Amino acid sequence: MSQKDWIEKDFYKTLGVPKDASQDDIKKSFRKLAKKYHPDATEKDPKAEEKFKEVSEAYEVLSHEQRRKEYDEARSLFGGGGFRMPPGGFNPNAGGGGAPFDLSDLLGRMNTGGGPTAGNGGGGFGDVLGGLFNRGGGSRQRARRGADIESTVTLSFDEALDGVTLPLRLTSDAPCTVCRGTGAKDGTTPRVCPSCDGAGQVNRNAGGFAFPEPCRACRGRGLVVDDPCANCQGSGRAPSTRTVQARIPAGVRNGAKIRLRGKGAPGEHGGEAGDLLVTVAVTPHPVFGRDGDNLTVTVPVTFTEAVLGGDIDVPTPGGGTVKVRIPEGTQSGRMLRVRGRGVRRKDGTKGDLVVTIDVAVPARLSAEARDALKAYAESTTDHDPRGELLERARKHAAGGAT
Ligand SMILES: [Zn+2]
Ligand SMILES: [Zn+2]
Repeated sequence: MSQKDWIEKDFYKTLGVPKDASQDDIKKSFRKLAKKYHPDATEKDPKAEEKFKEVSEAYEVLSHEQRRKEYDEARSLFGGGGFRMPPGGFNPNAGGGGAPFDLSDLLGRMNTGGGPTAGNGGGGFGDVLGGLFNRGGGSRQRARRGADIESTVTLSFDEALDGVTLPLRLTSDAPCTVCRGTGAKDGTTPRVCPSCDGAGQVNRNAGGFAFPEPCRACRGRGLVVDDPCANCQGSGRAPSTRTVQARIPAGVRNGAKIRLRGKGAPGEHGGEAGDLLVTVAVTPHPVFGRDGDNLTVTVPVTFTEAVLGGDIDVPTPGGGTVKVRIPEGTQSGRMLRVRGRGVRRKDGTKGDLVVTIDVAVPARLSAEARDALKAYAESTTDHDPRGELLERARKHAAGGAT
């Protein structure tokens, strides 16, 4: 906007207040008009939007004591028409100390809820509007939830059993910390994109129909940056590395996916953070296996332990042992259950330790042991473990032949 326009416009008339209106009256009137003409309230009626800009422009000047004074002086000096630039120039921003007054700056500032130029002399503009529209301004700055991030952790078998808190270094796309997500170099602000008027999309006409497509000038963002932030090349987004403490619950299984709420990428414009999805890989244990909530272990026993019974030591996770009673006459492959020595469940109870008995046959025998076994064999000739099996097979074959 040119300084000539600035003098020719009657901001008091635009806001519908007398020349001696108090700041309070100016504020009240602006709030009323801004609410009426705000693009969000009028479904982007272009006339209302124009009105909204006029009202905002007037408020930006009149709400600022120093600017209002200069505006009043300029208008009384130059009277509206026949304006000529005074020697030394005229600075409508005097007292503001910032960039030349530009309405799109204002909108940008309003929408980002402050941002790096919040102190740029405009005063409570954003504050005034902030209370009116919960969405915080234009649709292009709507609160957006952060992205979900996926990560993989490898746990030892014991960590998976007991649960563990791991620091995870995550790199995600986050608002650039240098420009606070505006994409503009320090001290500057993005402008509303002139190609799409901030909508982020334009209508392409084809065969009498209008198809919306992302605006090329601003790549759908609705804002353009003249002087880009060096850190993010103007995108407003930059990779950011954070360390997140990921709590992995006890009893997690290999391949499980754990959702940690709110630990993903940060949201934009007040949106909530995304989730962190952790895929858990569990290193196999050399001794124990998992079967749901149960732990499994195969324990060798001697022939005599299996036949006569006895108490044996069975390993438990964590390095301890538990005494397990082998009943007399235990067959190889039998499973014995040790209650409550398995995997911790969500409710705090534990699964079982399932012990598979494996009768270990000695590969070599001393002469003494060999003699003892021969004596044993002679004393058990009446025990024929295969007699019944052979009989059943024979009967089946005879029956099948008829
Ligand atoms: Zn940046
Ligand atoms: Zn655009």
